[in-house]
Amino acid sequence: MGRRLKLMRIAEIDVYLHWTYWLAPLYIIYRTRLFGDQAWFVTGILFFLLLNLSLCVLLHELGHALMARRFGVTAKDIIITPIGGLARLEGMPRKPNQEFLISLAGPAVNLMIAALLGGGIYIAGGTLLPTIRFQGLSQLPVIMLWINLVLFLFNLFPAFPMDGGRMLRSILARWMSYFRATMIAGRLGQFSALVFAIYAFLENQYPLILVGVFVFLAAQFELNQARVSQGNEIENEPSEA
Ligand SMILES: [Zn+2]
Repeated sequence: MGRRLKLMRIAEIDVYLHWTYWLAPLYIIYRTRLFGDQAWFVTGILFFLLLNLSLCVLLHELGHALMARRFGVTAKDIIITPIGGLARLEGMPRKPNQEFLISLAGPAVNLMIAALLGGGIYIAGGTLLPTIRFQGLSQLPVIMLWINLVLFLFNLFPAFPMDGGRMLRSILARWMSYFRATMIAGRLGQFSALVFAIYAFLENQYPLILVGVFVFLAAQFELNQARVSQGNEIENEPSEA
């Protein structure tokens, strides 16, 4: 998985920062220099948001890893990238129920964080809707609430490499072969990534094009993996000769 920096060890799982993670602070500094006198203030706030976001991503991945552990699957490590994380499991169980629950555990953590923040803000008498104008750090809980809701919904999107893709596969695998279910979830992922990238291009949101490319390649990786294991299965099939 390329160059990476060990960040910590939590619940007996090593957590690494992927080298691309440094692109996020560099991009923030690049964009915030336009704010003139306020540049360092805005940079500081965005760094703080990035840190909070990464913490939520880490908790999301821990959700996957700890649910997997319940089913006897060990997490090799957790890798944090600027657009998400990855809990690398020692093989995903091919029991649809277990795969479904392991995939659901990550987004469920984000929904839980959002519910806790929402409850806290509500009890404190605050508003749950973010304002367009940034009003300093008092807005942070509301912003994090919405970031977690977006993480929850984005990950439930039923296409690879999102968690929703894995959940879709585990549902489809009840009616068709595991391989065919993987192909459907993978192709759906690539199609959505393509639509997303074209939309980002038309809207001149160039960093988002990279997200589309990344999602497309990650879906391709899943498809290749499925083809390899399908090939192995056919080779290992006992011949009746
Ligand atoms: Zn996830």
